[in-house]
Amino acid sequence: MSRWLGAAVFAFALADEGSAQAVPRVRPRLVVAIVVDQLRADYLDRFRPHFGPNGFNLFLRRGASFAEARYEHSTTSTCPGHAVILTGSYAMVNGIIANEWYDVRRGRRENCAADTSVTLIGSSAAGRSPRNLFGATVGDVLRTATNGRSHVVTVSVKDRSAIMLGGHLADAAYWIVDTLFVTSTYYRPGLPEWARAYNAGGAISKYFGRPWERLLPAVAYAEMGPDDEPAESDGSGMGRTFPHPIGGREAFDRSPFPNDVVAEFAMRAVTAEGLGRDTVPDLLGIGFSANDWVGHLYGPESHEVMDVTLRLDRTLDRLFGFLDRTIGLRNVVIVLTADHGVGPMPEVLRRIQPAASPRRLDPAVIDTAVRRAMEARYGPAPAPGWIAYHAPPLLYLSPVALAATRVRVEEAERVAQAAVQSVAGVHEALTGTDLARLREAGAESGPVRSFHPSRSPNVYYGLQPYWLADGGTSGTDHGSGWLYDQQVPLLWYGAGIAPGTHQTPAAISDIAPTLSALLGLGAPGGSQGRVLSELLR
Ligand SMILES: [Zn+2]
Repeated sequence: MSRWLGAAVFAFALADEGSAQAVPRVRPRLVVAIVVDQLRADYLDRFRPHFGPNGFNLFLRRGASFAEARYEHSTTSTCPGHAVILTGSYAMVNGIIANEWYDVRRGRRENCAADTSVTLIGSSAAGRSPRNLFGATVGDVLRTATNGRSHVVTVSVKDRSAIMLGGHLADAAYWIVDTLFVTSTYYRPGLPEWARAYNAGGAISKYFGRPWERLLPAVAYAEMGPDDEPAESDGSGMGRTFPHPIGGREAFDRSPFPNDVVAEFAMRAVTAEGLGRDTVPDLLGIGFSANDWVGHLYGPESHEVMDVTLRLDRTLDRLFGFLDRTIGLRNVVIVLTADHGVGPMPEVLRRIQPAASPRRLDPAVIDTAVRRAMEARYGPAPAPGWIAYHAPPLLYLSPVALAATRVRVEEAERVAQAAVQSVAGVHEALTGTDLARLREAGAESGPVRSFHPSRSPNVYYGLQPYWLADGGTSGTDHGSGWLYDQQVPLLWYGAGIAPGTHQTPAAISDIAPTLSALLGLGAPGGSQGRVLSELLR
């Protein structure tokens, strides 16, 4: 058994007293973990002149920040990012290798939060739960240590974000489906009265028909370049320039306003569930996902990304003001980070230098290369062909084809790997067999941290820096092992936190053990991070 499997087995066991480090004198009544979906580390410096006094500046002026914080894994997408934050572990332990992967045993794709044994409350969409997450979150450790007296509630636009932050023992995770907040029967039999009342108020549909305008006068956005950039997506009829009409739910999703609704719902939860009301600590997880859609459609160099960031700053100001009035900020510890960064659009690079090499690489080109190489070597495969599933950076060969042709998996992987590696723009391709060996040898690389032996693919690949795996012509993406996707803000404020700016390296896996130390608890069992002792008072 590897040491990581050993760690996972004891995921729910609290660390013994001897390992609890630097237990602070001030215990928070409420831990607030805020995750912004797609917020690159450099945005804080870039947009800081336009921040209000008590949003991001609460952290930047009166809290602690780590300028060199990053994910040490290479699949920088939403579900893996959220899974790291409160477990302190990477996919090599927590199993969340991507937003979606291929379940080889069942022969079907698997969403990271899928669970067919439960149903949603308030929607007929597919069931969701933390079942696919291995190990414990800070909330799980807290609920265990207090015999369930602590409350753990998470709220997000996206299901996977609320669910991964909550962990296995959360009271509830809430997210938006259509125009309503929903949860899963995994957590509770029905929506609480306050949540039903919130839904009945039409909080989301009231945005329909209102345009999205810039928060500040247009001149403040001039530093971002022109508002109209041809490689921006038109965002489902919202257009490439301000003002963007919000005709319905789809456009609402692609606007900054889901963040406001999530903050409002989270504040209702604090009041109704009595979070932070007594000395038994509670945990509130909040996922602000609006930034991700806006970033994908318009790219990091856009007026829209600047605007969604500034609007989030004002939303944070309202949230922190509320927490101060209801609980007192001295009783709260707040950590803010992101699930990943984002890369620029290749077209923007080429506007500056037309000969710049980064391009969009259509994943279909990789499909074709692999299929041709496999057919040339082994002949045609039975339906559905040689590739069972391919969503960058994961490529799974068909288990049916491998069994039918009696080809050794390791040998077939080598053929597919060479085909992927031969495509222009590919930086590196690794086989599942390679990754398993590297993992056993204790290698600590991004791809190894993003690999889990029971779920990972036959070929794992990454593109050269600034290339995008995308078959379209507009928008941008994240998901690579390069710094623009890995580096995110890491901000702290509140009970037990010494103010200061730190240039020392910090990993996102350090958040969970640090929060645990602030609570006087052992870190979640699978945690791979360290306690950021430099920020403890
Ligand atoms: Zn994301």
